[in-house]
Amino acid sequence: MKIRQELLKNIRQVEPYVPGEQPQGRVVKLNTNENPYPPSPEVRKALDALDTDAFRLYPDPASSVLIRALAEQYQVGEDQVFAGVGSDDVLSLCFLTFFNSDKPVLFPDITYSFYKVWAQLYRIPYECPALDEDFRIVKEDYYRENGGVIFPNPNAPTAIYEELDFVEDILAHNRDSIVIVDEAYIDFAGRSAVELVDRYDNLIVTQTFSKSRSMAGMRIGYAIASPALIRCLNDVKYSFNSYTMSRAALECGAAAVRDRAYFEENVRKIRETRMRTQNELQELGFEMTGSDANFLFARHPEYDAGWLFRELKKWGIYVRHWNDERIRQYLRITIGTDEEMDIFFQALRDILNNK
Ligand code: PMP
Repeated sequence: MKIRQELLKNIRQVEPYVPGEQPQGRVVKLNTNENPYPPSPEVRKALDALDTDAFRLYPDPASSVLIRALAEQYQVGEDQVFAGVGSDDVLSLCFLTFFNSDKPVLFPDITYSFYKVWAQLYRIPYECPALDEDFRIVKEDYYRENGGVIFPNPNAPTAIYEELDFVEDILAHNRDSIVIVDEAYIDFAGRSAVELVDRYDNLIVTQTFSKSRSMAGMRIGYAIASPALIRCLNDVKYSFNSYTMSRAALECGAAAVRDRAYFEENVRKIRETRMRTQNELQELGFEMTGSDANFLFARHPEYDAGWLFRELKKWGIYVRHWNDERIRQYLRITIGTDEEMDIFFQALRDILNNK
């Protein structure tokens, strides 16, 4: 049954974000940038130690145990950290809180596709300066009046990291706008903009547990900024949903942050496999934009990416492909375990040889 026009006119209609497929069963899943390794064993211990009787009570709305661990890890004040249900939750609240201008918010034409969805959902005007022909952000495009700036570093899906002086230039040219640096993949790349937070009162850095901490299923993300901006974010959160983080997420998240050694080893393994994957793909004739995340963005000059995507799927191998004009010939390939990548290379060789 269709919704009557009289009702429809007052309904908020949006074109939603389309998440990558979550296939069931035995597949090689290289399509949503999850971590192929389990989380720290400390997470299991934290889960086992949970007092399930306490589940009858609401969790701590201030997420204190997690915020304390993060503040210690990043050497910032506890009043400089905000936690949410994945960085999607944190970013969505940031859009709602900080992008309230008639002037357009700026983000790159090729970037995390959720930004456009939030802008439309909250009716925030936006403009998307084009990446250059090498898929790099052109920083000068952000040196103009705007209602805010957001970009991922490394950018997704290009996997290109920009050095901190590049980020600082954008911050310095936007003293009167909020600049959000989405660092979902920073642990696989280089220096974080967190070290700039005390010098730039217009900076918000967001990060996630979904990638380098192997906890996409727990849904934990966070923002680091000045205490004043974190207060604004909390005011909006408490106007929306006070109890966002479950008791399990808070305890498991804190345990994961404290296990620094496991985290570092996990990141090291991914980076090593990434280098291997890059070499193998190059040997097969692929070209790549960058390699600063837990995924690669690759095209083959002779083979259509949509076709490769479908062929790989026949092998039970899932990668990501978009039909957008500029990136139609690219595949985004998440770095899996070495064993998973071996299956992937074998399939690719077979597909390319039998064409
Ligand atoms: N930012 C970027 C650039 C991403 O690719 C993702 C993952 N889809 C996110 C944010 C959100 O990740 P999560 O909500 O799992 O923290």
